[in-house]
Amino acid sequence: MASAVKKLYPNAKLGIGPAIENGFYYDFEIPQGIKEDDLDKIEDLMREIIYKDYPFIHEMWEKDKAIEFFEREGEKFKVELIKDLKENKVSIYKHNDFVDLCKGPHLNSTKEVKYFKLLSTSGAYWRGEESNPQLVRIYGTAFYTEDELNSYLKNLEEAKRRDHRILGRELDLVDIYHNEAGAGLVFYQPKGALLRRIIEDWEIKEHLRRGYKMVITPHIMDKKLWIKSGHLEYYQEYMYSIDKDNQSYILKPMNCPGHILIYKSKLHSWRDLPLRLFELGTVYRYEKSGVLHGLLRVRGFTQDDAHIFCKKDDLYSEIENVLDFVKYTMVKFGFEEFFAELSTRPEKFIGEKEDWENSEKILEKVLKNKGFSYVINKGEGAFYGPKIDIKLKDALGRQWQCATVQLDYNMPKRFQVTYRDANGREVLVAMVHRVILGSIERFIATLIEHYGGRFPFWLAPIQIIILNITREVKDYAYELKDILEKENFRVDVDSRDETLQKKIRENEQEKIPYIVILGKKEKENKKVSVRKRGGIDLGVMGIEEAIGLFKKEREEKKEV
Ligand code: ZN
Repeated sequence: MASAVKKLYPNAKLGIGPAIENGFYYDFEIPQGIKEDDLDKIEDLMREIIYKDYPFIHEMWEKDKAIEFFEREGEKFKVELIKDLKENKVSIYKHNDFVDLCKGPHLNSTKEVKYFKLLSTSGAYWRGEESNPQLVRIYGTAFYTEDELNSYLKNLEEAKRRDHRILGRELDLVDIYHNEAGAGLVFYQPKGALLRRIIEDWEIKEHLRRGYKMVITPHIMDKKLWIKSGHLEYYQEYMYSIDKDNQSYILKPMNCPGHILIYKSKLHSWRDLPLRLFELGTVYRYEKSGVLHGLLRVRGFTQDDAHIFCKKDDLYSEIENVLDFVKYTMVKFGFEEFFAELSTRPEKFIGEKEDWENSEKILEKVLKNKGFSYVINKGEGAFYGPKIDIKLKDALGRQWQCATVQLDYNMPKRFQVTYRDANGREVLVAMVHRVILGSIERFIATLIEHYGGRFPFWLAPIQIIILNITREVKDYAYELKDILEKENFRVDVDSRDETLQKKIRENEQEKIPYIVILGKKEKENKKVSVRKRGGIDLGVMGIEEAIGLFKKEREEKKEV
């Protein structure tokens, strides 16, 4: 692709072009820019290059020679990359008249490239720095067989149809782009708020059942607290601040310091531990506008956040409980595949090496014993403790971040978070930060895309919609709504004076699990006509029979 781009745009400068999951990209500086339509032209030229079957030739060059060569070619980015390399020799690949810096390996010749497609373009800064030149990034993918390529492209189409930014609006759940309010802030429409409430109610119930204590902490807290916690030092650019009467407040970017203050409001003995404090904590982080993305990256979001204060000896069972909870939750919400990443001690760390090694062992052992598939990201942990991230796979095989379990050797020290042990000595607690769903906003996006908006019955904000065919049966529609609501179903009536066809069509678009249709006959016989989502006509039945059907659906998916 890069050699085709250079042919079409001789003044283009090469950036970097790595392989990524399901494909590749390459960054170019192209002063005149390119349009999506230009991708066809590039593809045509790529086919020509492939057809000519140029061999890929690998050479190792002296660093000086490589710098001289790319300087002559005007490839300033390549020169910069080579100058940064520690090695004296650099790896070069050539085909026809194209020369590139590349670690390789490559195929033997261009003809071995089989089925490919250029997918899209976007802007990217050189080395990701906003002060650097803006480049054009071209994404593509390639497979060995046509079938694989086609099924991948079909999957991409499906992913586009399920995009939560589009479905979120179509299903009237959320509204993210109120310019008057500022970017990256989420407005929940009535149905979206209901969906969130259903998720949160389930979570609160589960947390209480598992021995967590629910707390609520203020959204703004004195700046001094954030100096003490170290957040101001490390995250200042992401924090919102408010000045009032010569005092500075910070809009909380994290819930931890608040939970620590609650812990510290009392003296604790070893008998009180573990103490698990849980909050649906709304936090604010000033993300750069360029990284904001639908519900996935926003500036205000709510975490299902808990902090576990325990003895070192409790760590194993506490982590075990958290991972059990994660599994239970994922299955409940309909995700079958998930895996874990364990990030371990980085070069710079605080705390005792022995504690790190011990806790890394604990984390890994729990993962193993609980049957999680996992990878270890060696040295990728935060400076204050190792952590586990859980990623889940959705219906289209895409990965989403959800739970995190993070050990912390920093905050207990900074805040002197202690308990009295059996000998009356004051000991620092072991502290675990953990979220199960993570950001509720991001999880809702995950759910929307996983289900394509067709939520299971227990999650659907509206479970049953009642349509009256004529005005004469409107009273019967509301009567039925009352009956169903007494059985704890979420029910709505569409009593607009529209044709039945139009009402059915519009409500089917909303992907409501059941549509109940009422006409004169149904009213006279106290019957209902039921349609299941997907246009399945279940026919006319008695009210009790319908209730039985809905109850069965609710109960079947109620518990894991
Ligand atoms: Zn925390």
